Amino acid sequence: MLSRLMLKLLIAVVTAAVLTTLVFSQAPQLDKPKPADLILRNGLVYTVDPTNTLTEAVAIRDGKIIAVGASKLVMKLKGKETRVIDLKGNFALPGFNDNHVHFSSAAAFLEFNIMRVATQQEFAGRVREVVARLPKGEWILGGYWGAYDQWAAGSAGQGRRQPFTPDMQAIEAITRDYPTFIRKFDDSEFAANSAALRAVGIDPANPRLPDTKGTESTQRRAQGTEPAGSTVEGVEFLKDSAGRFNQHLRGRGVVALFSSVIPKKFSHERRLQQTKNALAEIRRFGVTNVSDMSDDEQLEIYRELHKSNELSVRVHFRPGLDRWSELAEQVNREGWGDEWIKLGAVKGHIDGIMGTSTARFFQPYSNDPKNRGKWRPLMVDEKGDFVEGKFLKYMLDADSWKLQITVHAIGDEANHVLLDYLEELNKHNGPRDRRFRLVHAQVLAPDDFKRLGKLGVVAEVQPYHLSDDMRWMEERIGRERCKGAYAFKSIEESGAVLCFGTDWPGTSASEYPINPLLGLYAAVTRQTISGEPAGGWFPEQRISIEHAIRAYTYNTAYANFEEKTKGSLEVGKLADIVVLDRNLLSVPPREMLDAKVVYTIVGGKIVYGE
Ligand SMILES: [Zn+2]
Repeated sequence: MLSRLMLKLLIAVVTAAVLTTLVFSQAPQLDKPKPADLILRNGLVYTVDPTNTLTEAVAIRDGKIIAVGASKLVMKLKGKETRVIDLKGNFALPGFNDNHVHFSSAAAFLEFNIMRVATQQEFAGRVREVVARLPKGEWILGGYWGAYDQWAAGSAGQGRRQPFTPDMQAIEAITRDYPTFIRKFDDSEFAANSAALRAVGIDPANPRLPDTKGTESTQRRAQGTEPAGSTVEGVEFLKDSAGRFNQHLRGRGVVALFSSVIPKKFSHERRLQQTKNALAEIRRFGVTNVSDMSDDEQLEIYRELHKSNELSVRVHFRPGLDRWSELAEQVNREGWGDEWIKLGAVKGHIDGIMGTSTARFFQPYSNDPKNRGKWRPLMVDEKGDFVEGKFLKYMLDADSWKLQITVHAIGDEANHVLLDYLEELNKHNGPRDRRFRLVHAQVLAPDDFKRLGKLGVVAEVQPYHLSDDMRWMEERIGRERCKGAYAFKSIEESGAVLCFGTDWPGTSASEYPINPLLGLYAAVTRQTISGEPAGGWFPEQRISIEHAIRAYTYNTAYANFEEKTKGSLEVGKLADIVVLDRNLLSVPPREMLDAKVVYTIVGGKIVYGE
């Protein structure tokens, strides 16, 4: 005969089996679970759990998920205070987790950016907007005009357009109280308004180079030890078609000249405002977690906003590899952070970027036979010569403190060398769960793919790069090497963990918006946003939408050592959720680009959508 206890247990097991999709975190008190704060019901909920469950509803309490399942069952957690939202069939999934943003640059870039500007009217419009936001006297900087002159955005290499050059006269009246110093994307040219020119001692009407050697040189001149009229080296004034100075300058001395007067950094107030604008942008696109590589002041601002309850995105924060010892001390002192601001990783750079043809390759660029790209400073000495073991030493040291190492590598040689270093790391410091992040992993040599899985690499890629970069990839590195470029399918098949993000706001040569839909679209179509080429660029490297979503949610959480608390809609995890107005699993890829975010929810709080 069954004892009473046994019978009770049996009933509990049977009940649990019936409720397969409804899982309560307070399983032992199944009969009296606490009511939810918020229930999302009647939706299409894509959980990204191990079996990619599709269900209807989610219940949230104290910022965490307490139930996922059929609406009818989840509604049992409705109490007197519970807010219930009818999702009306909309598509809910884990909040997007962006593996790579440069938050402070993005925040500044959002303030002023003329990268895609093609007309003087647009240019003046952008300037007018930034002027409206800033107090008098603030500098207007950046711009990066011309990046899309040669290859229009959304093109696969066609569609060259008329080059755009900002007309500084057109903004003179608007910017009288705002010194303005802007640059072309490749730093081959700069432009300054009259206020900025005067600030460095140049009279716009009668341009002559100032004596930047200052008092010391003036004194020496007075003493007759230096010839009069000494000028700044490497600054050239450009002229318009009528032969007049058009307030454009060129040469290697220009930046030095203006940096002597441009404030070294923005005021804290301006940064705070920029941060708030950037947070709004992030919320708008359903992103609930970012991995950021900004400066320490940005980290301070995050903490400030976290305290005042205004931080609406969770942050995985990565200082530079060369600063590993500071981070090690900080982690020692304060721990690895919390679910809002997570510490413990460092980021290094091994080579340059495709956009400026500085990524490091085994063979020269196809369109520049003398150029194989460049190593970054941690790889070389002051003269720029490669130093054996220098970068590896940084890695070994940081790793010995159990810090997570993440390194930017774009060209095939850069990726190859980095995999060698990772092998060294395993050999010297012993194997452990490192989750070494190969940042960008952009172009890999054919033989290196199999090493990714073997070494347990996390490939931190940004799929929209491919939609944008295909403008010029083949021209720069040729078709053969392009086979290993943004090769997401091969990366997955190697056994490496593929995670997604944006690299927001991009480089000086390319704009990469924070919008995750662009990345998902790029990964599944391998086309530009205008749908070129038909069938996709190296279509054998396309991946499924299910895998792309996982890469943008669970896998980035894994890459941050946070897959136990983030990345899927499962009981006990943080309630970070995005609701879209269409089912990404079933719409044609082109329509994914039109999907709108209905709600962004972070820790159970609706931060966008009402
Ligand atoms: Zn980056």
